[in-house]
Amino acid sequence: MAHDYDDQNIFAKILRGEIPNSTVLETEHSLAFRDIAPQAPDHVLVIPKGSYVTYDHFATTASDAEIVDYTRAVGKVCEMLGLTPGDGYRLIANTGRNGVQDVPHLHVHILAGRRLGRMLPPQG
Ligand code: 5GP
Repeated sequence: MAHDYDDQNIFAKILRGEIPNSTVLETEHSLAFRDIAPQAPDHVLVIPKGSYVTYDHFATTASDAEIVDYTRAVGKVCEMLGLTPGDGYRLIANTGRNGVQDVPHLHVHILAGRRLGRMLPPQG
C-alpha cells in the first residue's frame, strides 16, 4: 500500500515552525518534543523530519543516516529523561486505523514516570 503523506498534518506544521512545541531534542533528522496532552509525567514524541507516515514506511524507505539518527534520538531522549537505567518506560508507535493513529506523521511515544498498567485493555 502506498503511503501518501499529508503535509498539512499537525507535526508537519510543527516541523515547519508554524505551530510551537516544547522541544526536548533536535538533531539533523529528528525532533523530540513534549506531548500536548501528556498521559504520564513524561510523555515525549519523537518524529523524523522527513515525510514518513508510519514506522514501516520509515523503516523501509528512509536513508541509513535518517534511521540511525532517529534511533539514536530515541535513545538520547531516554537518557535525558533518566530512563536508562531507571524505572522503565513504554515506547508506542500507533499505526493506521487499527492502531488508532491520529497524526499521520511517524511518531513514537515515550511514556514514563508512573506505572503504566497492562499494554492493552482487556478485549470487550
Ligand atoms: P497518535 O494517536 O497519533 O499516536 O498520537 C498523537 C499525539 O499527538 C497525541 O498524544 C496528542 O496529544 C499529540 N498532539 C496532537 N496535537 C499536538 C500538538 O499540536 N502538539 C503536541 N506537542 N502534541 C500534539
